[in-house]
Amino acid sequence: MRSGPQHVLSVKQFDRRLLFELFQRADELAALPPREITGTARGAIMATLFYEPSTRTRLSFEAAMTRLGGAVISAEYAASTSSAAKGETIEDTARVVAGYADLLVIRHPVAGSVARAAAVVDVPVINAGDGANEHPTQALIDLYTIWREHGRIDGMTIALVGDLRYGRAARSLARLLTQSVGTRLFLVAPPVTRMDPLLVEELRAAGLRVEEVDDLAAVAPELDVLYQTRIQRERFEDPSEYAAACGRFVVDRDLMRRLPEHAVVLHPLPRVGEIDPAVDDDPRAAYFRQARNGLPLRMALIERVLAHRPVAMVAANGHAHA
Ligand code: ASP
Repeated sequence: MRSGPQHVLSVKQFDRRLLFELFQRADELAALPPREITGTARGAIMATLFYEPSTRTRLSFEAAMTRLGGAVISAEYAASTSSAAKGETIEDTARVVAGYADLLVIRHPVAGSVARAAAVVDVPVINAGDGANEHPTQALIDLYTIWREHGRIDGMTIALVGDLRYGRAARSLARLLTQSVGTRLFLVAPPVTRMDPLLVEELRAAGLRVEEVDDLAAVAPELDVLYQTRIQRERFEDPSEYAAACGRFVVDRDLMRRLPEHAVVLHPLPRVGEIDPAVDDDPRAAYFRQARNGLPLRMALIERVLAHRPVAMVAANGHAHA
């Protein structure tokens, strides 16, 4: 029974049951032999519309759709090569492309724009990052990676490090962590990129134990997960503010010596200096495994969306679905 398109706009849509269903399916898909095509998206077309740069998100979505047996059409530089360059609104572009595809995956620099596109089409829309607001599929991959690496999502001590103001991946992950139990969250950011106090309040109200700290080395021995992020240069109006935020917290060999043996280091990537490549060989450096997890997780999500199975336990506006 179909009840309108199942958009994926915010991590607020996901509850524990849905998360574990996705993770389990992603594990099955990750175990497929190389070159195996599931056929679960056969006949379907996915359109990727990217108005901002991307490597992992667009390519792993496209690879995921291909592995499911579906087809892909793409506007990689949508800001300059689609009719947006002629002044077309995101709503009009989405309306038109929805006539060619069964699923839209959109990245856009303006917060809320992907939701605006979703509101005017009758095919599912997945938010692949809207400005500094959300990056829900990245957060799903991050939590899936924590689950794979640690075998659980509960009772964890996690540090989010770097750009917690403009970093949509960190914001989405923090929100998704409210679905875990007994989580302690350290926020470690330079003064100019501290997390929005309203979001900190939201996380605390949802039951997370949140502490803002400014000494990463001091908390490192307590961590199960260190989630490092890039300072989002493209969001700064004042280059001196950007410069002030850079280089403050770097994961290097010294810091790795302070991390427990069982801890993992994650990063949504790309990195630009905040993780020293000298630590890449450390088995706790999990960021390339994390990037790889994007493929099966996005396959699981696309399958679910195309099958019209619910991807919202709670509507993105916070109201429970009838
Ligand atoms: N790739 C992630 C994003 O698009 C993280 C980053 O760009 O720093 O948000």
